Amino acid sequence: MRNEKFDAIVVGAGMSGNAAAYAMAVRGLKVLQLERGEYPGSKNVQGAILYADALEKIIPDFRDDAPLERHLVEQRFWIMDGTSHTGMHYRSDDFNERTPNRYTIIRAQFDRWFSAKVREAGCIVLCETTATRLIKDWSGNVTGVYTDRAGDTIHADVVVLAEGVTGFLGTRRHLRETPKPDSVALAVKEMHFLPEDIIAERFGLTGDEGCVIEAGGTISRGIPGLGFLYTNKESISIGIGCLVSGLAATMEKPYDVLDAFKHHPSIRPLIAGSEVKEYAAHLIPEGGFTAIPPLFGNGWVVVGDAAQLNNAAHREGSNLAMTSGYLAGRAIADIKDRGGSMVKDNLSLYKRMLDESFVIKDLMKHKDIPRFLHANCQSFFVTYPKLISQAAQCFVRVDGTSKLDKEKATSAAFFKARSGWGLISDAVRLARAWR
Ligand SMILES: Cc1cc2nc3c(=O)[nH]c(=O)nc-3n(C[C@H](O)[C@H](O)[C@H](O)COP(=O)(O)OP(=O)(O)OC[C@H]3O[C@@H](n4cnc5c(N)ncnc54)[C@H](O)[C@@H]3O)c2cc1C
Repeated sequence: MRNEKFDAIVVGAGMSGNAAAYAMAVRGLKVLQLERGEYPGSKNVQGAILYADALEKIIPDFRDDAPLERHLVEQRFWIMDGTSHTGMHYRSDDFNERTPNRYTIIRAQFDRWFSAKVREAGCIVLCETTATRLIKDWSGNVTGVYTDRAGDTIHADVVVLAEGVTGFLGTRRHLRETPKPDSVALAVKEMHFLPEDIIAERFGLTGDEGCVIEAGGTISRGIPGLGFLYTNKESISIGIGCLVSGLAATMEKPYDVLDAFKHHPSIRPLIAGSEVKEYAAHLIPEGGFTAIPPLFGNGWVVVGDAAQLNNAAHREGSNLAMTSGYLAGRAIADIKDRGGSMVKDNLSLYKRMLDESFVIKDLMKHKDIPRFLHANCQSFFVTYPKLISQAAQCFVRVDGTSKLDKEKATSAAFFKARSGWGLISDAVRLARAWR
């Protein structure tokens, strides 16, 4: 490998790196992919929901052999306080379609499958190999990478940085900044194993049907964050993600927050009797549109989590990673086809393609959400969840109080907690941020 020259080097074999490597290899480019893990997926953590649409655009027949757990027919959104949850559930038999829209997956298995497709397409994949530094020429253009394999230097026309949110190659060379504590969440996750029939019974599922729960409220202890519970075939993934700056400010420990979530009376019965076999922690980029760094330069592009392409408001990341990787790969192949060089002007094609896609459109639409939620976390993660829970309980409890008195008590509680002006201002600002 020493001093060998490739059309492209892809650093990382996660969702974005595999999509980029595949897109270029199927177009006949000479591609080398480096992965520091023992195998693709060994270092990667996800809930995990796979959004089929993004993968279908890359590998249309992926359902034939991809390791998919359950297809999702039910989504539950819960607002929680200490003892209760107020929920909105959406379940539809329409999701029992021929080509389901969302699946649960296990990344260690899925990434290996994706990587096998990348190899079949002709890419050389080197695992247990860390790219340690970008090589630059005298005029600052990226021309390859150094690796930890006996001082190997590998050269390429372009380097695709698909190194995930903690990747250091780009930050060390000042191509982007290290993510700030208020633009990343720390997520901790456990895998709870249960027999398939028990999972089916607890969640009302048949065959490969799946259900997911996403929960916000006092469970994140006033820190912007969300809990999740996803059903796999024979396991349940359960976790919680909280903004790093919030954890630092409150000195809350992520394990304690997850522990409290697991012991919540609404969650505990769903995982009762399970055996925990895996535990993982990982960062999630949550800075949104304003945290996106420069996406390309002379001899390099950055994709996926490394580029902060993650839609926290909709809990989507892998689809943005795959789409950005795929578009970067296609842009590079197009430039190559035209005989162009991998200079900044030409690589701007990747950014133009990304701007046209749902990735940038969605992140732009929600660009004010992260800042809004961080600035108002006490209201939206403590005060309102408690008020909503009290209101729901007041509504369903029959105790001789007249309905009119109940309504008056409920609205008085809201006005006392936030004042009339506060309520209007929260509603208007939330609507504006969401718009
Ligand atoms: C707990 C949790 C739950 C999530 N749930 C969901 C979900 O349900 N649905 C969803 O769509 N998204 C979810 N996400 C987000 C999703 O996991 C990410 O958006 C996605 O994995 C990003 O893919 P990526 O390829 O950019 O980065 P990664 O998947 O992090 O891959 C980066 C790869 O690069 C390798 N690497 C890094 N540096 C080097 C180096 N120097 N040399 C060689 N290799 C290197 C790493 O080992 C890794 O394999 C979740 C994230 C977390 C943490």
